[in-house]
Amino acid sequence: MRICDICGKKEAKIHLRYARISLCEECFVKYYLNRMKRTVEKYRMFNREDRIAVAVSGGKDSIALLHAIKTAYPEYDIFAIYIDLGIDGFSEKSREIVSRITDTLDIPLVIYSLKEKKGYTIMDLMNTRYSRRICSACGILKRAYMRDVARENDATVLATGHNLDDVVEIMITLFIEGKFKDILSLNPAEPPTHPSQIKKVKPLIKHYGWENKYYVKFNNLPSVKINCPLSGGARSLRRKRILSKWEEDEPGIMRSIYTIFTKKFSPLIKKEEVVLNTCKICGGPAIGEICSRCKIEEEVVKMKYIGEEEI
Ligand code: SF4
Ligand code: ZN
Repeated sequence: MRICDICGKKEAKIHLRYARISLCEECFVKYYLNRMKRTVEKYRMFNREDRIAVAVSGGKDSIALLHAIKTAYPEYDIFAIYIDLGIDGFSEKSREIVSRITDTLDIPLVIYSLKEKKGYTIMDLMNTRYSRRICSACGILKRAYMRDVARENDATVLATGHNLDDVVEIMITLFIEGKFKDILSLNPAEPPTHPSQIKKVKPLIKHYGWENKYYVKFNNLPSVKINCPLSGGARSLRRKRILSKWEEDEPGIMRSIYTIFTKKFSPLIKKEEVVLNTCKICGGPAIGEICSRCKIEEEVVKMKYIGEEEI
């Protein structure tokens, strides 16, 4: 039996190859929380004065984030937001899990249902030209509604469950696509750049996805185990699988990539001040006259209208 390297008493249940240590459940949870607290403090993500909105999807990352923030900062003003995308066989289950965990942790939950509020679901996007890049369109809608709901509920900061794997995958994708300036927006804390926005933070940016999985397991938390049925061939999932194989061969490689990008690469890129316009339809941030969310929704309305005419 291997003994925990921190307490020296209990049986080790997890081996962190990148740090060359084995930990028992209790010490791993403390180790995990300490790293999150250091990240929050280092990047001045939030403090006692803030009202913190936590974006929760029901997956392991956001469930771990919600529980970790509540455990590390029990006195802080925290609430959760769930965007119900209306994805068949997936959203309902996710919504149930989010309701269960927020009840258990006694955290107020705000649910925004696309179907109830806007009359469409992500499934409707499958009949539009967005069907081939459904995840990118879905991401635009989620981010826009998350931002609006957080602001409407007086949040001063919005926390998301992005983990190290997510961020490294996006960094590499942006690098391959030559979108170097966009890498700058992957900061752990992003201040608002438009009046409709609030500060966004990623407290788990230094945690691997599998560490979130173990945090959820060791704390006996529920999380959605099924995959979104629309995620099938998502390129990001494929790239993450390749990255985790690389990590298996070279423990710590993702942490090294993240550090090189943030400390060595990003400072070489000149930050361009992009002045955002205000969307003529929703008042959100836009590059042109209309924001990406409203463009997607115009398309949905058009397709629905055509569908009705055909009937
Ligand atoms: Fe949306 Fe794609 Fe995630 Fe499904 S997998 S919830 S479509 S971003
Ligand atoms: Zn808009």
